[in-house]
Amino acid sequence: MKSPEASPLQTHPQSESDPPFNNPSQSVDFIREIINQDLKEGKNNGKVITRFPPEPNGYLHIGHAKSICLNFGIAEEYNGVCNLRFDDTNPEKEDVEYVDSIMEDVKWLGFDWEDRIYFASDYFEQLYLYAEELIELGKAYVCDLTPDEIREYRGTLTEPGKESPYRSRSIEENLNLFRRMRAGEFPDGSKSLRAKIDMASPNLNMRDPVLYRIRRVKHHRTENKWCIYPMYDYAHPLSDAIEGITHSICTLEFENHRPLYDWFISQLNTKSIPRQIEFARLNLTYTVLSKRRLIELVQNKFVDGWDDPRMPTLAGLRRRGFTPLAIRNFCSAIGVAKSDSVIDIANLEYFLREDLNKKAVRVMAVLNPLKLVIDNYPEDKVEELDAENNPENPAAGTRKIPFCKTLYIEKEDFREDPPKGFFRLSPGKEVRLKHAYYITCEKIVKDPKTGEIIELHCKYDPNSRGGWTTDGRKVLGTLHWVSAPHAKEAEIRLYSHLFLKPDPDDVEEGQDYKSNLNPNSLTILNGCKVEPSLMQAKPGIPYQFLRQAYFCLDSRHSSTEKPVFNRTVTLRDTWGKIEKSQRRKE
Ligand code: ATP
Ligand code: MG
Repeated sequence: MKSPEASPLQTHPQSESDPPFNNPSQSVDFIREIINQDLKEGKNNGKVITRFPPEPNGYLHIGHAKSICLNFGIAEEYNGVCNLRFDDTNPEKEDVEYVDSIMEDVKWLGFDWEDRIYFASDYFEQLYLYAEELIELGKAYVCDLTPDEIREYRGTLTEPGKESPYRSRSIEENLNLFRRMRAGEFPDGSKSLRAKIDMASPNLNMRDPVLYRIRRVKHHRTENKWCIYPMYDYAHPLSDAIEGITHSICTLEFENHRPLYDWFISQLNTKSIPRQIEFARLNLTYTVLSKRRLIELVQNKFVDGWDDPRMPTLAGLRRRGFTPLAIRNFCSAIGVAKSDSVIDIANLEYFLREDLNKKAVRVMAVLNPLKLVIDNYPEDKVEELDAENNPENPAAGTRKIPFCKTLYIEKEDFREDPPKGFFRLSPGKEVRLKHAYYITCEKIVKDPKTGEIIELHCKYDPNSRGGWTTDGRKVLGTLHWVSAPHAKEAEIRLYSHLFLKPDPDDVEEGQDYKSNLNPNSLTILNGCKVEPSLMQAKPGIPYQFLRQAYFCLDSRHSSTEKPVFNRTVTLRDTWGKIEKSQRRKE
């Protein structure tokens, strides 16, 4: 993915209201065109059956989401079904932890495989019988070359391969040896079963590929039942055929494998003839989406597990506060193409904001608290003020927030010497406290040693309850705040991209993508103050901390003593015109 083709989808969304894409769902993509044509020709008895085929060797990521949305989406549109199939042919790398996480993530995204959950390992017996059938057809042979020798004999793109000296074994000998391979008579790696195709084929995948290797490894489902395991290229098309898959949609790297896919299907008498269709995988800026790399980041503790909120895994995105709908809308907007491209991650964030804007309750939280005392407010009085939950959604209603003499505001909302155009609080200046009152700053208290401002003293206008005056007096700044005695202390985690460069592979010579890891991708703020309603926060429920960003409760580190909030995504201009013009002037 060094120098990806430029894509029209790379454009950055210009503003909150500009959708970043033309809506490709209105035009039919090339996959749906193929399916439409197949249906027109009466293929597959008019049925459409797809599958999502993860290998349980890692957690699902946003790239897989594209494949899930495509496979389950197509099934839904064509009144067909989509199977969830685990391609578990590689026991060394696989684990039930991954099986469980994959099921959880597909469900969370909003798709349902009903009772159609399958495992390639369920077909091991059938796949074995197909292999015997190939031997009987004279289309497969047992080979004693070592894996290294097989590689040497394979040749290159410019040179044809060399035939194995074992290629001409008789059918009887091959059957006998293959059965003995299964029975465990030979050491690991000493023999393999290979297809007999064409060592001179310009397509290297067709040069007598290995179908079975001997590996004494415990499988997470079949345990020690098998000591020979089928190769992916062999197991995949036949698993598709066994399930009656009509359209086997996969990513472009399998394009060169399609002749082999079709070869297996044409040699064997399978009950259905699936058709492989390749599409371009998803690549995102500032992101790596290779499982090998994600595993490396987890195992070497560059991140805090598969569900670290900086990870592009579905588990990480969920913990960060992404919604399934945002991811599905993103996947449908990017559409499918036949050549690789890189999508700007801002596009994903666009769909996230769009969904959060509708769903998130607006609350107040102070990340960097500065104490503010209202001198003319009665000592023990507490008022319950009304706050609207979501101006985008009147049905979300209102809630009560406590107001009293001692509050916290954001440190950066006060300047002793305000620059021109600073409309927030400064000595003698009047501002509005959101949902509350107008206040004017009258006095600053500083730490005698450090000179740091530690407290502000203000007066409030009792006639401005709710944040509006009766005399029509206007203020330019509106600040968020929390009541000091009622606020809950929280930890807040701010995230930025995990990588410093849009293309993590853009590195100096001798370095790899890890040299582009962003050392500041996580900032932890302690001693933040959040309004008391956030005591009810639950993971997965989005909030907008007014004027800050979208946040959600962290599912791993939160406790009742100390809630932890993850910043899901920054706001961009949603606080209204005053703030916008203010920001422009600053
Ligand atoms: P591996 O290297 O382990 O095969 P993989 O990412 O291909 O990694 P699979 O579990 O084989 O993982 O993937 C399941 C399905 O998801 C496959 O059909 C694959 O083509 C698809 N897929 C994987 N990555 C992407 C991506 N970035 N964009 C779209 N589809 C993807
Ligand atoms: Mg794969």
